[in-house]
Amino acid sequence: MDLKQYIADVKDFPEQGIIFRDISPLMANGEAYRYSIKEIVKYAQDLNVDKVVGPEARGFMVGCPVAVELGCGFAMARKKGKLPRETVEVSYGLEYGKATLQLHQDAILPGDKVLVCDDLLATGGTTAATIELVEKLGGEVVALAFLIELLDLKGRDLIQGYDIFTLMEY
Ligand code: AMP
Repeated sequence: MDLKQYIADVKDFPEQGIIFRDISPLMANGEAYRYSIKEIVKYAQDLNVDKVVGPEARGFMVGCPVAVELGCGFAMARKKGKLPRETVEVSYGLEYGKATLQLHQDAILPGDKVLVCDDLLATGGTTAATIELVEKLGGEVVALAFLIELLDLKGRDLIQGYDIFTLMEY
């Protein structure tokens, strides 16, 4: 399936010089959304994943249906201040701006095999922070899956040594 037809390219959003790759049309199309999730599930189904972790907010859109299909749990990596119980946190740089991500302390059990899912791999900062959170809690990141990879930003350089699956490259 040609998934790129469901990505809206928005110039200069949210800042001059950024081409925002909007996944809303993909999610609005049941067939394209389902196909994307099934492809990630196919990739991950033999990895014995215990938990899927997705960073707020579009990581939830990709990670939750993948977790349901795999029959495993899902943990939310959220922006600072959103999670109500004890957390671990990591601060990181973005393609635009800075942020802090948190996981609930009990979201990952030591030894859990974790699949990290997000909509898009850009600089890799968000993913690197998510990996760090999982590893702080004793989890093992077994793979990373994205709908989109922005090749120019070389996100892979920041997250070397991990298995990466992507459905679209720009
Ligand atoms: P990064 O931490 O630089 O890899 O950025 C990844 C996160 O920022 C993802 O969660 C994306 O949702 C978002 N993001 C970064 N750049 C873009 C872009 N050009 N278009 C859409 N989303 C983006």
